[in-house]
Amino acid sequence: MSAEITLGMDSALSSYNKIFQALEAHQDWFANSIPLIASENVPSPAVREAIISDFANRYAEGWAGDRVYAGCTYIDEVELICLDLAKRLFSAEFADVRPVSGVCANLTVYSAFADPGDTMMALAIPNGGHISAARKEFNGTAGLVHGLNVEYFVFDRENWNIDVDKTKEKVRKLESEGKKPKMVMFGGSLFLFPHPVKELSEFFKSEGIVVCYDAAHVSGLIAGKQFQAPLAEGVDAVSLSTHKTLFGPQGGTVLSWDKYAEKIKAGAFPGTSSNHHLHHVAGKAIAFAEFLEFGEEYATRVIENAKTLAGALNDEGLDVLASNLGFTKSHQIAVDVTKYGDGGNLEKDLEKANIIVNRQLIPGDIQAGRHYMHPGGLRLGTSEVTRLGMRKEEMRQIASFLAKIIVKKEDALKVKEEVRHLRNSYQKVHYAFDTGTAAYKYIKIR
Ligand SMILES: *Cc1c(COP(=O)(O)O)cnc(C)c1O
Repeated sequence: MSAEITLGMDSALSSYNKIFQALEAHQDWFANSIPLIASENVPSPAVREAIISDFANRYAEGWAGDRVYAGCTYIDEVELICLDLAKRLFSAEFADVRPVSGVCANLTVYSAFADPGDTMMALAIPNGGHISAARKEFNGTAGLVHGLNVEYFVFDRENWNIDVDKTKEKVRKLESEGKKPKMVMFGGSLFLFPHPVKELSEFFKSEGIVVCYDAAHVSGLIAGKQFQAPLAEGVDAVSLSTHKTLFGPQGGTVLSWDKYAEKIKAGAFPGTSSNHHLHHVAGKAIAFAEFLEFGEEYATRVIENAKTLAGALNDEGLDVLASNLGFTKSHQIAVDVTKYGDGGNLEKDLEKANIIVNRQLIPGDIQAGRHYMHPGGLRLGTSEVTRLGMRKEEMRQIASFLAKIIVKKEDALKVKEEVRHLRNSYQKVHYAFDTGTAAYKYIKIR
């Protein structure tokens, strides 16, 4: 903490100044850290420029070219370009770039294809599922906000994937109980290997079940053609976040087929938003253009780096999960740290050394009585360090830093200096048309 915070006591000006001090301190910290949070990335200077434009202050309800507000000439131009780029990037017939987040993209899809009281099948959280596809009893979005009953895919923990045959059996059983799913949602937050979409979508469709895919995490890997292609494999709609492996501004998008366009449009507006975030539409358009040009190379490097980091951590003696399967085919790896502490405490120890990771529930945690605050695992992602230009050699260095803290319990301040030294050479984003400004440079326009 850089400033002394005295809530309730400061003058307005003093609070105002402390806010800017914190914003600057944060950027300086991240410029000297190793960011390994799998859901994060760093946008290009071009995306940052777009999101501080005046688009941020406007309204444009409705579809581009058919708005409820005046003043949208240039906003429409940019949104039409954004839609065109999204469709080309994902080979999709239809795209809606208005959802303001991945959760809103999911809600858009739920509203398009299911009614409250219907059943959806998704991945359970301890198997990698996300809270936005979870039950009401956990305050999950699907249950709490859209009233869906959630049933789980049968998950095979040996193979780190959905069990195709047992999932089919489960659907038939649910059907016999009068609880047949209206829709299924593939995808998840701990997402190491492509899901068996091709193997299951024909079955689901023959049962009259709508097939959706949550690509929040892996949208950049899909766009870069290094992961499965869910639309080509038979899904009806894809929801995604634009800021995880896809290095855009924070936001969501839905991809689908023309025959579902009107349902999805209604789900996005007015269903789950009134105004959407127009500056972020501009930022998405820029990130999509960057991805069309540089995405294949980027996604290839991201996955190569994840595999290298996993192998190097394994060599350092850490228990990287899914070792029987080569650790990962995505940007993520999961590490069982129960030999050395727990995910919550180790996350804090690593933060002191400027290594930013997040704790992760892993299979077996719930049975062992561990919970989300102190789970047995850590999840690491290579999207952001790859965006900064790091390659295999740097992954091996990062693995040694992690081992110094987790295994050898070395002094965090000493490791922090080594981290800063490594980061010195990686201050700019790669895989972009304009890379002049440092990635975490604080931009002052006051
Ligand atoms: C991150 C995530 C989301 C939510 O995305 P936001 O953009 O944070 O709202 C949805 N689904 C999955 C699987 C996720 O990992």
